[in-house]
Amino acid sequence: MKYDEMLGWFLKDLEGQKVLVNFNNEIMEKEEFQNVVKDLEKFYKSKNIEDTIEYHNRSMILKRYGIDENNLFYLWNDPVYQKKEFNKEKSFTFNCCLCNKKTNKTTNTHYYKLDILPAGFIMSKPLRYCTEDCVQTHYLNYLNDFLRDRGQTKYFFKRKRIMKRHLTLL
Ligand SMILES: [Zn+2]
Repeated sequence: MKYDEMLGWFLKDLEGQKVLVNFNNEIMEKEEFQNVVKDLEKFYKSKNIEDTIEYHNRSMILKRYGIDENNLFYLWNDPVYQKKEFNKEKSFTFNCCLCNKKTNKTTNTHYYKLDILPAGFIMSKPLRYCTEDCVQTHYLNYLNDFLRDRGQTKYFFKRKRIMKRHLTLL
């Protein structure tokens, strides 16, 4: 059986030696192994391979958590915040949950409300913000805390990079 026709090979410790075995615990034949090495070398020796691996693994890990890198303000395909209009008939004032700016219909026409937080965070009060920048920054702080709790600090989102990308997308 060819290695690429198999479901997978596993690295195994056999009496102190590392070997590749299939799911039937058969050791990979020498010729097959040489082909595998050739293919692996081709991959691992290719240009910018670290970036390729990081990009791929990052997408896989984030996907597992419902995070879409190209749509950061969606979680499991739902928008995490919404833009709200001030009701002109009512007087309503709040302090922005990020910058603490006093916000009402005389200061703003719109405000932003964060509806969804990453798993594990409890919304003890409504989260309202004066600007889109504030709601996005606060949400990214939550996302980074979420990633930190899972030991994924190397996948932190940096505001600057994200803004640049979102601006180019807009
Ligand atoms: Zn604010």
